[in-house]
Amino acid sequence: MLYVILFSLFFLGLIVGSFLNVVVYRLEDKKRKNIRGRSFCPHCREKIKAYDLVPVLSWIILKGKCRSCKKEISVQYPLVELATGLVFAVLGYIFLQGLTFSIASLVNLVFWFFFTGCVITVFVYDLKHQIIPDEIIYTALVVALVFVGLNTGLTDNFEYLTEHLLAGFLAGGFFYSLAAVSKGKWMGGGDIKLVAFMGLVLGWKGAIIALYTAFILGALIGSFFLLTGRKKMGSKIPFGPFLVIGTFIGLLFGEQIVNFYVSMFM
Ligand SMILES: [Zn+2]
Repeated sequence: MLYVILFSLFFLGLIVGSFLNVVVYRLEDKKRKNIRGRSFCPHCREKIKAYDLVPVLSWIILKGKCRSCKKEISVQYPLVELATGLVFAVLGYIFLQGLTFSIASLVNLVFWFFFTGCVITVFVYDLKHQIIPDEIIYTALVVALVFVGLNTGLTDNFEYLTEHLLAGFLAGGFFYSLAAVSKGKWMGGGDIKLVAFMGLVLGWKGAIIALYTAFILGALIGSFFLLTGRKKMGSKIPFGPFLVIGTFIGLLFGEQIVNFYVSMFM
């Protein structure tokens, strides 16, 4: 039974992933609003046939090229679909284990799917354009506030509310001061909102692990780029993608890692 659910979640993720590609495509150029996203080839504007819109599979069959103009279709499309599918299945595996059905667990699962969609969009957009779109991050912040409020109401746990509000506020404040000290060179406004969102949904344990992972990854990959000469000292690397990876690590393992450290020193 569990595997049937996980398989369905994977396929749901593939479909949500192709929707995320459309969202990214539209955010890249606001004028595209009237065009129905990926149903057109970005090069020749030829309408893409329904049978060529199957997530991942179509891209592989067409060898990453448009059927009519043969120009390259970015590997971003299948990768985003595949990543969303995998994350959905992993979230399902973790959240559905030993879970009894309740409104609270349903709210949580739906929220984590929404959360996945938001952060994958941020990841792709920041990687491509070095900016986190306000449309996405403000929507994410508002929905996160509603989610934290709902969770508090459903569980009557006011400790949860204070912890998550405080984590969001402190993480955002920390990044705000980093941005102020460096005059926006280290962190941008988008990163501040992203970590506020992260703290809000993860709480302090998850947020600490998420930030820690993001900084270590950033340092490792930054030095790799410097050593291989791909980037110069002082050139910009978007920090959002590291924060997104850190957030997933914090979400999945934050609680266990912090509890493990606490038990070692107490
Ligand atoms: Zn084409």
